[in-house]
Amino acid sequence: MRFLDEYRNPKLAQQLLRAIRTTITRRWTIMEVCGGQTHSLLRNGIDRLLPDELQLVHGPGCPVCVTPLEQLDRAMAIASRPEVIFCSFGDMLRVPGSTTDLLHVRAAGGDVRIVYSPLDAVDLAQAEPTRQVVFFAVGFETTAPATALAICRARKLGLKNFSMLVAHVLVPPAMEAILAAPGNRVQAFLAAGHVCTITGYDGYQPLAQRFRVPIVVTGFEPADLLEGILLAVRQLEQGRHQVENQYARAVRRSGNTEAQRIVAEVYEVCDRPWRGLGSLPRSGLRLRPEFADFDAEHRFASDLPPVREPPECRAKDVLQGLIRPDECAAFGVTCTPERPLGAPMVSSEGACAAYWKYRRLGR
Ligand code: SF4
Repeated sequence: MRFLDEYRNPKLAQQLLRAIRTTITRRWTIMEVCGGQTHSLLRNGIDRLLPDELQLVHGPGCPVCVTPLEQLDRAMAIASRPEVIFCSFGDMLRVPGSTTDLLHVRAAGGDVRIVYSPLDAVDLAQAEPTRQVVFFAVGFETTAPATALAICRARKLGLKNFSMLVAHVLVPPAMEAILAAPGNRVQAFLAAGHVCTITGYDGYQPLAQRFRVPIVVTGFEPADLLEGILLAVRQLEQGRHQVENQYARAVRRSGNTEAQRIVAEVYEVCDRPWRGLGSLPRSGLRLRPEFADFDAEHRFASDLPPVREPPECRAKDVLQGLIRPDECAAFGVTCTPERPLGAPMVSSEGACAAYWKYRRLGR
């Protein structure tokens, strides 16, 4: 398949690996931001082929992992209400909240349904006019256009029984928080290619300049990742700190302006707590006041008990690249995909799940 097969070509991968080996002269630490990239790196064994001088650490780009615990607990409270059909992507069902997860809410009688698109939830609201349909809008800049579109459609249809619980987050503020944190060891980023298809990459320039850190917009296939790493290593070795675009077949400098327009029409930027990272200024999206009627947080306002994270879960350190998943004492002992303590062990993009699935068992 064009644009795919050539990026899985073993000969090309070998060439890129050789180029990385001949370019690198000292130790560097590079973070791949996106959980999809983490899984691709491990699935293809790239982490084991890189020279010893190069350390990859895994970033916070797993939407399920960083959805705030407050919003998860709120989701479960809303999903437990008898009048509600609660719609979510499948990944969210097993994510542990403070005391339970959506799967257990469903087992206890809550009407929790998996959908594949926010528009499916809008269709459901049309088909079930006597029920309240709530969609759990999680994810980064990549999913926000689709949820914004769903809100516009619900408004056009005049639906009074559709709302969204919004937990959208934005990538650049998280990268900034990682770079500014004491003990940071990230020296270059592979930025998430799919996020940049929406946002473009001009927004990363201030970050690259301020922290003097190379940022390479990178795709997800083996050759994409190896080329992104090569470009980052070249910059590090040459003392440059620029934004480069490895994923030019999908990403334009200005991104998808129509998607940006609809997101700006429906959402405004807000401060948002990230699970594991704490509250980050201007790092989330919330519905604009003119769409408040579609805000499930207002429609189903409720007092929630304080959030409670398991103290042994070190997702905070994993998401900031401070430790690898197998350096968490609970990994594979008290935390497994069957009995997860934290979200990174559940999500299909979680770093802990990737280490478990691809048997990077460390100790
Ligand atoms: S292995 Fe489990 S407990 Fe440890 S950081 Fe990952 S999710 Fe948390």
